[in-house]
Amino acid sequence: MKKEILIATHNQHKKEEIQQILGDRFKVTSLTDYDLHEEIVEDGSTFHENALIKAKYCFEKTGKPSLGDDSGLVVDALDGRPGIYSARYAGNHDFAKNMAKVLEELEGEENRKAYFVTVMCLVDDSGVNYFEGRVYGNLTREILGEKGFGYDPVFIPNDHDITFAEMAAEEKNKISHRKQAIEKFLEFMEK
Ligand code: IMP
Repeated sequence: MKKEILIATHNQHKKEEIQQILGDRFKVTSLTDYDLHEEIVEDGSTFHENALIKAKYCFEKTGKPSLGDDSGLVVDALDGRPGIYSARYAGNHDFAKNMAKVLEELEGEENRKAYFVTVMCLVDDSGVNYFEGRVYGNLTREILGEKGFGYDPVFIPNDHDITFAEMAAEEKNKISHRKQAIEKFLEFMEK
């Protein structure tokens, strides 16, 4: 029988991406499949805490192995901001406003170092396990490119000279923080 993994999301794209990576041996389900529509309050103070909150909610509701994730941009010269507040730094899911705020705060700043991080948390009968991926790079001084989402147009990964938003999705997905975390999760599941 296929092993089920419940992903703490309503995002169909996220569900399919994880299904693809995990392959046929696993059945990936989402909150939508369980009609779980109440808001999960992510009031943790770290990426790990927020990922745990989501996974724990799903596990408590269904008893299925559950995966929660939390991602964001961590900027060196801003003491780690926007961090866990990445999605709502200036305006709720307003990517343009969020990027503008980060660029404004970095005006005149030479240190442009930043990284994207994803933390995934698996809660199942055996307990709690975390998987983390990071991609390091530098922030631009202007918006460059139109692909992707979030802070992609202001982030140039190390060893590249274009932003995530100028890259083909496949190119970004090969090196992204999310991909690295999923790979670690897959390795764990295969053991
Ligand atoms: P989530 O936890 O995956 O929903 O990500 C939270 C926020 O972090 C997003 O709304 C984006 O602002 C930012 N973020 C996370 N991953 C990426 C990425 O791959 N590119 C750009 N922004 C990202």
